Amino acid sequence: MPAKRILIVEDEPDILELLRITLAKEGYDPIFAKTGEQAIELAKKDLPDMVVLDIMLPGIDGLDVCKILRSDPRTSHIPIIMLTARSEEADIVTGLEVGADDYVTKPFSPKVLSARIRNLLRRQAATIPDQRPIRLGSLIIDTMRREVSIKGRPVILTYTEFNILLALARRPGVVLTRYQIMDAAHGQEYVATDRAVDVQIVALRRKLGTYGRCIQTVRGVGYRFSGPV
Ligand code: CA
Repeated sequence: MPAKRILIVEDEPDILELLRITLAKEGYDPIFAKTGEQAIELAKKDLPDMVVLDIMLPGIDGLDVCKILRSDPRTSHIPIIMLTARSEEADIVTGLEVGADDYVTKPFSPKVLSARIRNLLRRQAATIPDQRPIRLGSLIIDTMRREVSIKGRPVILTYTEFNILLALARRPGVVLTRYQIMDAAHGQEYVATDRAVDVQIVALRRKLGTYGRCIQTVRGVGYRFSGPV
């Protein structure tokens, strides 16, 4: 199998060099862009297997790059990991909402970034198809019948709780923002508040018993399903 090609978008030379060394050592084929414009051009030309995208860039920033890549059918499927400053929670939320799959905060350890890249590539290969039941340990979500059971015992969920669980469990390990959860819960037309999502999550956790712990809070950003236990 040819080495996975990873497009790194970063304008700071030191970080770019660190990323280049790290990814080459892991056996990837790294390519580079120093501006958003260059990133878009390269992504469309080379169709990389993944993009590691800094948010703060000269010219168009990483958030816009993300939006543009997601809106082009040729590049819309490419997994994207964003690099953000630790303090910029608003950027993280926006980044996830414009389609980034994951994020790593700066300063980052090369080991952590490599692990995230590996996970995301693996997850991409193992995305759960829409109609099949989802099995996570002894938790089974029957997407057709809209039924949930744990160790064979039914768990009774409301319409909204089921949709939230499904959205989270379909992409284990992926952080969803509250907005994304609201969207999954009710469809586009329904308007709810952040607080309403938190209330739903509390109820869902309680009904899931020990599996409730699989729904992790990512502070300031949203929630993710991590498991099975
Ligand atoms: Ca930068």
